[in-house]
This record gives sequence, structure tokens and C-alpha cells, in this order.
Amino acid sequence: MSSGDDNVADGAQLGYGRQLLNRVLAGTPAADDPLTHVADLPARAAATTQWPTWASREVIEALREAGVSEPWTHQVEAASIAASGRNVVVSTGTASGKSLAYQLPILTTLAQDPLATALYLAPTKALGADQLRAVRELTESTDALFGVRPIAYDGDTPTEVRQWARENARWLFTNPDMLHIGILRAHPRWSFFMRNLRYVVVDECHHYRGVFGSNVALVLRRLRRIAARYGADPVFVLASATTSDPAAAATRLVGAPCVAVTEDGSPHGPRTVALWEPPLLKEVTGENGAPVRRSAAGEASRIMADLLVEGARTLTFVRSRRGAELTALGTQRLLAEIDPDLVSRVAAYRAGYLPEDRRELEAGLADGTLLGAATTNALELGVDIAGLDAIVVAGFPGTVASFWQQAGRSGRRGQGSLVLLVARDDPLDTYLVHHPAALLDKPVEATVTDPTNPYVLGPQLLCAAMELPLTDDEVLALGGWDVLSALAEDGLIRRRAHGWFVAGETNPHAAVSIRGGIGNQVAIVDGESGRMLGTSDAGRAPATLHRGAVYIHQGETFVVDELDLDDGIALVHTEEPEWTTSAREVTDITIDEVLTDEQYGEVRVALVRVEVTNQVVGYMRKLLSGEVLDQIELDMPAHTLHTRAVMYTVTPELLERSGISLDRFPGSLHAAEHAAIGLLPLVATCDRWDIGGVSTALHQDTGLPTVFVYDGHQGGAGFADRGHSEIEVWLTATRDAIASCECGAGCPSCVQSPKCGNGNHPLDKDGAVRLLTAVLGQLST
Ligand SMILES: [Zn+2]
Ligand SMILES: [Zn+2]
Repeated sequence: MSSGDDNVADGAQLGYGRQLLNRVLAGTPAADDPLTHVADLPARAAATTQWPTWASREVIEALREAGVSEPWTHQVEAASIAASGRNVVVSTGTASGKSLAYQLPILTTLAQDPLATALYLAPTKALGADQLRAVRELTESTDALFGVRPIAYDGDTPTEVRQWARENARWLFTNPDMLHIGILRAHPRWSFFMRNLRYVVVDECHHYRGVFGSNVALVLRRLRRIAARYGADPVFVLASATTSDPAAAATRLVGAPCVAVTEDGSPHGPRTVALWEPPLLKEVTGENGAPVRRSAAGEASRIMADLLVEGARTLTFVRSRRGAELTALGTQRLLAEIDPDLVSRVAAYRAGYLPEDRRELEAGLADGTLLGAATTNALELGVDIAGLDAIVVAGFPGTVASFWQQAGRSGRRGQGSLVLLVARDDPLDTYLVHHPAALLDKPVEATVTDPTNPYVLGPQLLCAAMELPLTDDEVLALGGWDVLSALAEDGLIRRRAHGWFVAGETNPHAAVSIRGGIGNQVAIVDGESGRMLGTSDAGRAPATLHRGAVYIHQGETFVVDELDLDDGIALVHTEEPEWTTSAREVTDITIDEVLTDEQYGEVRVALVRVEVTNQVVGYMRKLLSGEVLDQIELDMPAHTLHTRAVMYTVTPELLERSGISLDRFPGSLHAAEHAAIGLLPLVATCDRWDIGGVSTALHQDTGLPTVFVYDGHQGGAGFADRGHSEIEVWLTATRDAIASCECGAGCPSCVQSPKCGNGNHPLDKDGAVRLLTAVLGQLST
């Protein structure tokens, strides 16, 4: 265990968070020593300020009545920037009252100008509903605001309400999907709303990342274009979790300059943050005989039971719905032996997003009838739970921003609290519990989007041209000239006197799936009920939806019966088998174009356009403990992906000088590639499933040992670009993650990958550390 814990005093001196941690440790076998770091984060006092003079008196009064006696500094700073007509992003912690930053200027404007309108966008319906409820309470209590009539406009809104909303709504609560298909497409029916549009709120904007984010970025550009057509130039107010460089991310999302407010003026109590790495199991081995760790969810059950016995109100975040149920059940089992009265005070929160479920859970946790709950990250957004005694995060939630959203639920005023991260078998988790600065210091991960991806931009240009003919200047501003030319060549768009028009009778809006992937989609259908569960990118379907695949959709588990790529349909049935599956595939990569290229001694780093050919040849079944059950062969067609990759080459001489003999090249490169994929989310808000990799001891295009990490979506999503620009930070973390894993020859916590197409073979852990050290040595000279 490392620094930060040298001041352990006696119980009376300890903060409450420390006391809880000691209680949990008391129940842990000494030999396990799972604690890797403890940090005591001091309390932060509130920084309050005066209400700004520009704000309407009635609005201030309504906010006061709702419980805001004095605003915090960041709220007023952001609100004032917006009121002065500049776009702003407020990037502060959970429960820091970011809503006030937009409520104040918008309600003031709507109160003073009876025609003014505003638009609010949320990534999830639950969040939008909560924000609408809050604004409704403010407006209904105040005469001057009574005419604001905030209203939801989404897929569930009845036709007659929609019509009313188009003609009367002054503050519309919707989502990017509905803005795309329901509003922009039919903008002439929204002329009143658009002409008077003064503000656009983009809430929880860090959720707009990757292909989804790139699509939303283009929808927002289309919104600004349509608003301009009606003579409006709305101010954008964005709210974000704390990420690296929120101003740049917001500017890229909106397509116009945004100022960031990051100095958080909200108070919180002292927090003890503990990082916990479950021990390696002695009895069980996984793939290729590698050791596996005790599961994070299992460990979390025991930790939660200990905390509940102490009377600590505890929320445990797990990665899947099933994990939530198993964790709650595990806790209940333990409590049945220690303190049976507590059994009924533990629940699993099932991610159905039903508002009444969430209210019940919120109320139970607030009044203490419910002492503990295990939940998926469904509770991360739009839930009004704060002030818990302990938060257990079982498995790093993927981004540092999400981790703090979850951790931010802890801490009653004036009292300490405990936040405990339990690492999963994953290189990123391993890295974080051994390198706490990456979690506790300034974030390095940035929200990544790429609105110039031709596969995203092409369909969006058609939508834009359908809404209003596109001018050459507009196309150039979007960086879309080549894309437009290709559309023109295909006869999809045509130049006339007043600009570019969509040719023929097409419906470009319906063809764009804002949240889905790119191009063709595969429909996932429950073969028993006929219920459509969702869609998946056709490109990813062979690896995730092949016959026999265990598929998790919104936390529910299914097994695939049949995949028909021609008809774009996967038939599944509900089943929760004891195993997971991972596809075995053969991947080939060729370089189409070198975009940037740098030589550092014997190492070359480049950002390249690539063609990746993938063929799924079978799959492996693994028990939940990590143990391998069997391998099953499949006969599937090959699939081609055109995307972007970050790559590096090394010379064989450098490898040999680093102590890696020729026969160890493949395993060293492969292990370094796996860990690098696992660590990319540290610098870019992606998931390891969004990216892929190829490593080879001799690549036909480079003639050298080469490692590629590529974006898993057609055209790329910006992740490889981010890896390229942060290559030193990224590869340093990759090396450190491998080096700090205590396994012998490699395990899922360092170099094994759950999505390896090659059955995690060959892998050379020691060689990977040597290789990365050599590469970093060249990069820094
Ligand atoms: Zn390991
Ligand atoms: Zn692999």
C-alpha cells in the first residue's frame, strides 16, 4: 500500500470516511492486502456570491423559494457569460447546481420578452424529465413566469400536444434525436419558435462522444443554420462533468467558440477515497492458465455488507444490471448471517428508467428506510441522490468523469464520507489503482468527437440540404467539400441556381441513426416475443452477434440464435448462461494514406488511414470466473472497415538491444497492443469496444514490427487521433499498467484482452514492458 495513509490516528481523530474504511478492512484477511491507496480529500467550503444585477427579480424570488438562498460563484459566472451573449460550458462536479447556470439567464429572458423561446437538450429521457420538473416548479409558482409553459417534446408526446407545442411552447425539453428528425426536418412548422430562439441548453454534454457525439455536433450545426435562416442567433449553455479542456470539447460540439467555467463554488464534506485491488485467486485459472482476480462485484457485496452493519448509507455502482442484482443478493446473503434485520433494507436498482422506481429509491435512501442499493450507471444521470455515507464503485466506470459523477453522490454536509473503487480484471483498472494521480488530479481524458468523419458528414449533409439548399460556403465551413463531391457523383445531391439540393425522392433523416453506428444496422429481435430490442452497427455484428454469442443489451442478457447479415437481423432469446463469449477472428490491416508521420530515432509514429479486414472464425466460451469452457468454430463472411489508426514501428535492432529476441517479437507487440487498447480511454472518452488493434512482427506496408490501434467505426470517431496527439502520456500509462500488475506472465488485469480475436496468444508481458520502455526512450530523446 502506498502513500497517503501515514497519519492513521485513533478512532476519535479519524474522519467518518476513515472509520468506515477501517471497518471494511477489519473484515478482510490480512494476507489479501487489497488496499493500494488512500487519499483524504479535504472539505470544500461554499463560495457564494450576490445575485447578478441583470437577473429578473421574479426569477431570483422563484429560485429563493425553491431553496437557493445565495448562488455559488460558478453558477453566477456561467449565467452572466450566457446573459452577455457568449456561449459557455460549465464543467463542475456532481450536485454543484449546474442547472441554475441556464435557468437564471433563460427564465430572465423569457420573463422580459414574451416572445422569446429556449430549447433544452438531454442525452437521456430521465434527465430531461427531471430538469423539466424543476423548471415547471419554478415557473408555476411565479406569475411573471406563468407564460413560459415548459413542455417535453419527445417520441412519447401525443400528436395534439405536439401541435400545441409547435405553436405555443416557449421552453421545449427534448433530445438530439427529436431535434434531428422531429424539429429540423419540419422547421417551417417551427418558424415562430426558431425566429425567437434565444438559448439552447446542452446538458451533460460529455455524453456526446465518438460517433454519437459527431452526429450531435452536426445536428447542432444544422440547428444554428436553421435558426440563422429565421434571423436568430441563440446562445449555447452547456453543462459537463469535469473533463480535460471542456472549452475545446464544447467548441467542437457546437461549432462556435465556447468559454469554460471550471472553478466549482459548491461545498462538500471531507472524502476518503480508497483504491482497492481484489487479490488473485489461487484455485482458479483463466485463459492460457493465467491467474484471475476475485470479481469486483463479489468483493463489493462483502464491502457493502460491512458498511451497512456500520449503519452507513451506501450506494454500489456495478457495470451490468445482472451485476447489480448479484451484488445486492450477495450482500443480503451475508447480512442474513450477521444482522438479519438489515436484509430487507438492501435493494438492486433495475435499470428500467421508470421515474417512479427512481423516486422510490431516492426517497428510501434519503429517509434511511433503504440503507444500501446496488445499481448500474443508470443512476448516474438525472437522479437526485446526494449525501450518502459511502459509494462503492465496483469496476472503473470507463471514464474519470463518470467515476466522479458516481463518487459525487457521497458526503453529507459537515461529515466525512467514503468512496471506494474496486478494480476489475482490466488494465485500465489496474493502472488507476496503482497510479492514483490519474484519478485524483486534473483529468487528462478529453471528450472526443469528429464531425468531419465522411461517413457521418455525408448523410448529415443530405439532411442539411433537404432542410435548406446548401451553399458552397456552408459546405466548406463544415469541411465537407470532398464528401459533397462524392454525394454529387453518386447522384444524391445536385447543384442548382440557389445551392445544393437533394436529388430524387429520398428521406435522408430517416437514414441517419444519431445514436447508432454508421451505415447499415442490424436489428436485434427477441425471437420468442418478436420484440425489437435495439440495433447494432452491422460492422460490429459478426463479432458480437454471431450465433451463440452472449449479448448484453441495456443490462439484460441474451443469447443469439441466428445472425442474418443480408436481412440485417439477429434473432436472440433471453437467457443468462454461466458463461460469456468472445469471438475469434482473423484481422488484416493495410495503410491507405499516411496523414502525419514523425520519426523519433528508431521509432516512427504516424496517424494513418487504414483498411481493416476482419473475419470471425469462431468463438470461445468462458465461465464468469474467467475459466475457459471451450472453443466453437464458425463460418462467417469477411468484413471491411475504412477507418483511422495511430501506429508505431520499431526497428528489430532496438528490440534486440532491449533484450527481446526475435521469437519474442510477436508476443511482445501483441501484449503491448492489448494494454494500449485498454488504456486509450484514459486520454479519450471511449470504451475499449470502440477501438481495435493489430500488431505484427513484420507488416507488409512498413517492413517493420508495427502496432496499430484503430477506431472501430467507419471513418473513425476521433479516438485514434487523440491517442496520436497524447502518445507519450498514453504509452507511459500502458507500460506502467503492465509493470504494476503482480501476475507472472500476463493476466486480464494487464495484457489479456476480453476481445482478443486470437485467444490471447501469444502474449509476452515482460517483452511488452521492454518494448514500451524502448519506444518511450526514443520518443523522449
Ligand atoms: Zn497481470
Ligand atoms: Zn489479441
